[in-house]
This record gives sequence, structure tokens and C-alpha cells, in this order.
Amino acid sequence: MNNVRVRFCPSPTGDPHVGMVRTALFNWAYARHTGGTFVFRIEDTDTARDSEDSYRMLLDSLRWLGLNWDEGPEIGGPFAPYRQSERLEIYRDVAAKLLASGHAYYCYCSQEELEQRREKAQAENRTPGYDGKCRNLTDEELGQFKSTNREPVLRFKMPGSDFTWMDLVRGELTFAAEHVPDYVLVRANGDPLYTLVNPVDDALMEITHVLRGEDLLSSTPRQIALYAALKDIGVGKGITPEFGHLPYVMGEGNKKLSKRDPESSLSMYRNEGFLPEGLLNYLALLGWSMGEDQEFFSIEQMATAFEITRVNPNPARFDLKKCTAINADWIRSLSPAELQNRLLPYLTTSAVLPEKPTVQQLDLLAKSIELIQERIETLGQGVKMLRFLFVSDDEFEIDPDDKPAVTDESGRSVLVAASNVLEELDDWNRTEIEAVLRAELIETMALKPKNAFGALRVAATGRRVSPPLFESLELLGKTRSLARITAALSS
Ligand code: GLU
Ligand code: ZN
Repeated sequence: MNNVRVRFCPSPTGDPHVGMVRTALFNWAYARHTGGTFVFRIEDTDTARDSEDSYRMLLDSLRWLGLNWDEGPEIGGPFAPYRQSERLEIYRDVAAKLLASGHAYYCYCSQEELEQRREKAQAENRTPGYDGKCRNLTDEELGQFKSTNREPVLRFKMPGSDFTWMDLVRGELTFAAEHVPDYVLVRANGDPLYTLVNPVDDALMEITHVLRGEDLLSSTPRQIALYAALKDIGVGKGITPEFGHLPYVMGEGNKKLSKRDPESSLSMYRNEGFLPEGLLNYLALLGWSMGEDQEFFSIEQMATAFEITRVNPNPARFDLKKCTAINADWIRSLSPAELQNRLLPYLTTSAVLPEKPTVQQLDLLAKSIELIQERIETLGQGVKMLRFLFVSDDEFEIDPDDKPAVTDESGRSVLVAASNVLEELDDWNRTEIEAVLRAELIETMALKPKNAFGALRVAATGRRVSPPLFESLELLGKTRSLARITAALSS
């Protein structure tokens, strides 16, 4: 079955969000599972809301995630162009054909008239959608409207029957005809709407399966009717795609995760240093599972196993903690060299390392990877932990929250004693460092390890949360370690 054609067709408005990525992932996985084609289409016909910035972010995000598309922007394909803003001629032409064939009609009703009739219908307990008033205007009525300079919208004529389809995720679904009234395809100013352009492109691009969020469920019966009309007028090959509606993603307080929730923004994950593998692995679990409690897998493994029919229709809960934990698993699974590669751009953007690090800096970085690999959940945490190793002593700062550890009395006495024994140490390695510090602070001074080493840790690394202390001191070197202790003592 390799004639499967699926599409990911976001509108470029604002920041890409995780719900969108989940949709892209499921479509990608289905295409790869079936050996089909993953089409990437940009639905940018709403000039008031779409932006070029957002368009670029979308492409950049999909590339970062590794969800490669087979047809779409920048690579083209047999149904190019894949940006709807470049396809307006096509929509104009199809709209004219729908009008000429009687599948659509001009509707002259003004907003106020529609509103009045809606209220009246509600008052009389009738279903409030469009009442079909302009379906059969007489020539005389048409003439009258034309003379008033009212610009009509183009409305689709629904066939008036109930709609039933087998949803790939939700099973059989039925919408009664009265709940799916005639709807607008083209605005009075001539702008084509999503209701028209989305199914037209599905038809022309020979899409076979539509996997999308449940929020779009109510547009499905309208679209199914439109695919039939398009078939009738010879637009596309007459395929009505199969539909699978992916479950809602719920955020805090059992409310739908919204674009406004900070954890829904894709750039948040990228900025904090989630690995694409980790984020996608987690998003795959929102509505799907590999089975057998297997929660750690790559998207290639997902693609091999992916069956739409195993998508769970129940709302999925978004859990940032779990997402972070899975990311941490992914970080641990990388080879140290690979982790270093992933970390490097984060270290340079946060100016911990220069754009072109020196050989010594890279060497130090390579040695430090083993100290953090088991301790970080995101690359951003890695940057925070390693900053102390690379900043100059002038730039080095102690985290204000952790400062009391080195300024209170017990902290100071620890630092003085540690500085004295470390000064005497010739063999600067982790084992020796640990031995002299333990002898002095724990045995001689009878301190608790937490108090003894806490102050040193803050003095040397600037934070309570750091890589292991003795290893950190070793990498920092004797001169710099002692300088940090001296600086802490004079702060
Ligand atoms: N452009 C639509 C959206 O972003 C696509 C919906 C669909 O997949 O049909 O909501
Ligand atoms: Zn009307």
C-alpha cells in the first residue's frame, strides 16, 4: 500500500506548538510505515494572520525535528506550489466551477440579517445555522441585490443528507444534516477560506489519509460533501480521504493545552535544550503507544510499528515532568562525543564558549561530559553546570541564592581550611583532592559532608547544583580553584 499520501498543513501563525508537532509526527510516521508520501503544505491564505517569520519557523522546526517531507516548500514536488498563497488562481477557478455547476451559490445576506435569523431560530428552538435563504433566489431578487452593491459570499450547497464515516481513530461517526448547514467558501472580498482551499488541495494533491486534531472534527462532514462535489466537477482524482482524528491534548487543570500555555511552545523546548528525539518520543505517547510498556523509542521505531487504528481516542494528558524525564533518558543514551556535539551550540549561544572554541576548551569540554551526562535532563542544564569551567575568573559569579553558603561563618571556616590543605597538594587529581579534603574537613574538623563540601562547591562552581566536586576541582585546576576560594572569602 505505497500510494498512501498524507499531509501536514499548518497555517503559519505565531510560534509552532507541540500539538502541531504531534500531528506532523503521526502523519510522518504513517507515511514512513506505509512507504507512502509525506506532503508538507503551508496554509497561508489568511493574510491578516499569517507571517513570513512563522513560515520560516515552521520549516526550521520540522528540519530540527528531523521530520523530513517528501513534497513541499523548498523541495517542490509534482503538485507544486505547496504554499497556498501561491495557488490563488487555482482556488478562483475551482470556485467558479462550483458556482457554475450549482454546487455553490452567491449569498447576499448581511451579517445583521444572519444574526437576526439566528436569534429567531434559537427562540423557536430550531437549529440556528444558515437557513438556505439565498439558495434559490429569483432573477428579480438577484437583480435587486446587485443594484444595492452588496458583495456576495460564495456558499456551498450541502446535499441535505446525514453524514457518516468510519473514523480511523474514533470509529463510526454520524452528523445529522441539520447540524451541517450550507457554509461559506469565499468571502465577499474574494478571499478563499480554509473551508475551500484545504479540501481543494487535498483533492488536487491526491491525499488519501487525513490525520488531524479532534478540534477539526466538525469541519469533516462539510469537507466530505465538498470532496464529492469536486469529484463531480473533475477536480482531482475523486479520492475522498479517510479521516483519523487525533485526541485532544490536555494541559494543567484538565483544560485543553492552549497556544498560550508556555509548555506548548516548541521554541521553549528547543531553547531549553530538549533533544528532538526526546521531545518526539514524548509526543508520540500522546495518543499512541508502542505497547508492552515500552516508552523509550525512536521515531524510526515508531514508524515501523505505527498503526492508526491503535491511536487512542481518549484525551491525552500533557505531562512536562514525564517529557523531561524521557529527554533525560535520551541524553543518557548518547555517546559522550555526540552529547558534546549537541551541547556545543548551546554553550556558544549562551556565550559560555566562543563561536570558535580553542583546542584546550574543547579538550576540557570533552573531559567534563562524563561529569554531567547522568545529571542533566536538558542541554540547558548542562550549560548551567559547565559555565564555571569556562568563564574567566573575572566573569565568574556565585549564584545570589547560594551565596550564604560561602559567606556564613561555618562556610568561611571551611574555605579557609580547604584552601590551606589544597595549597599544599602537589598531585592535583580527584583522588588526592578528595583524600585531603576528607581528612581535614570531615575527620579533623568533624563537619558533616553536606556542610563541608557545600561551601566548597558553591565557591568553586558558583552553584549548589554542580558536577561532582572533586572532579570539578580537578578540571578547574589548582590555580583557578584556589583563586575561586580566595575570591569567595573576600566576597
Ligand atoms: N491549516 C489547518 C490548521 O492548521 C489544517 C487543518 C487540517 O489538517 O485539515 O488548522
Ligand atoms: Zn444568504
